[in-house]
Amino acid sequence: MTACEVDLIEKLVSLCKQRGFVYPSSEIYGGLNAVYDFGPLGVRLRRNVRDLWWRAMVDLRDDVDGIETAVLMNPQVWVASGHVQSFSDPMVDCTGRCKKRWRADHLEAERIARGKPPDAPGCPECGGALTPARQFNLMFKTFIGSVEDQASQLWLRPETAQGMFVNFANVLNSTRRRIPFGIAQMGKGFRNEISPGNFIFRLREFDLLEMEWFCKPGTDLEWHEYWCNERFRWHIEQLGIRRANLRLRPHEKDELSHYSTATSDIEYLFPFGWGELEGIADRTDYDLTTHIKQSGRDLSYFDSETNERYVPYVVEPALGLERTLITLLVDAYDEEEVRGEKRVVLHLHPDNAPVQVAVLPLSKKAELREPARKIEHDLRRSFATEYDETQSIGRRYRRHDEIGTPLAVTVDFDTLNDHAVTIRERDGMTQVRVPIDGLEHALRDQLDQSRKRARDRAGAS
Ligand code: ATP
Repeated sequence: MTACEVDLIEKLVSLCKQRGFVYPSSEIYGGLNAVYDFGPLGVRLRRNVRDLWWRAMVDLRDDVDGIETAVLMNPQVWVASGHVQSFSDPMVDCTGRCKKRWRADHLEAERIARGKPPDAPGCPECGGALTPARQFNLMFKTFIGSVEDQASQLWLRPETAQGMFVNFANVLNSTRRRIPFGIAQMGKGFRNEISPGNFIFRLREFDLLEMEWFCKPGTDLEWHEYWCNERFRWHIEQLGIRRANLRLRPHEKDELSHYSTATSDIEYLFPFGWGELEGIADRTDYDLTTHIKQSGRDLSYFDSETNERYVPYVVEPALGLERTLITLLVDAYDEEEVRGEKRVVLHLHPDNAPVQVAVLPLSKKAELREPARKIEHDLRRSFATEYDETQSIGRRYRRHDEIGTPLAVTVDFDTLNDHAVTIRERDGMTQVRVPIDGLEHALRDQLDQSRKRARDRAGAS
């Protein structure tokens, strides 16, 4: 990793804290490793990504329903799913100077990230001898009720998928769906990662956006290809992530999870190398079959057209929300020179941007503040807006460039006579004067142009 690439993550960490996207969790007590809180802009960004995902995966489809299942589940679920037995990563410890703990399957990447040959011996950090690999289960334990014994032990879910499998029959019966159809949900997942890091890339508490697609056995590989294409396109067209920085990587045979016959990862070229953004797995009938055996319940499907009964196969696209956020930030970040000064700008797609339209009175004087506030109030119903009157106008433009606001409306003293305002656009910094009467219409037009620029930048087809 070059200094400038390391720099980018550090710059983002500081921008995110300063501007209110991401704060270290419980920071006043020294924080908590790999756990983060989200500030006012971070919350808006999260909500935008969630909404875009839900719209594409549920609202705009005829064949997917959304559900929300609990974080805490009967522990038998995790025994049946194989998580108790095998949701683990191989772990090694450095016995040398640094005493760091590593994932045994990440050693090469960690060495490369530190500018060392991938086959250098020992610890990636200090070269010390490493212990033999041991398996480490990633599920967090907790207890229910007042007795901390084995019987009352639970796990915090490491994925939301099992909530959808155990509700398969409920959804089928209550919706009368025919196969193929999907069940989608968004929610928290918890993993006690061995080597978390890279800001919000690998966390211990994170949000998953997952969909289980139930289909007829034998059609699963076709559906797998379908969902790989759909999901790849979504990142480019809906999120505006540049195609050149994305790739679809099928797993090698020895990389596949025990339940999967085909898995592909959508990967992004982060400053620290290619990393998984979304996984699309063919989970076969593994989960439903294992729950049938363990629970004794019938989770099969009767196809009345062909008079066949079968256990459906499942294709699962699974996306991490925070991984998406760091991808968006890395991909959108740019530094430019404007009239001899450095400008930091986030070229966010306008549908992701936490603020779409900033309303800025040129001065704090009441004669400008009042009309500017009224304009911002009127625009709230149609756009994600923010009113901002602090600091000089130049600084406010820079702040909004830095948080990715595509449009700023400036109210100046001429406004009082000509009833017009200036719209300044983020990417080209062009300005146009428009009458307040036609402002909403003009902003819609400009946002459409901004969407088109975002698509062009991403390389959308
Ligand atoms: P990795 O190989 O990075 O550990 P995984 O293959 O275990 O990931 P999945 O179980 O496929 O990941 O999870 C689906 C998605 O959830 C991933 O593509 C990623 O976006 C997200 N994700 C997984 N683990 C984490 C984590 N610790 N922190 C943040 N996001 C995560």
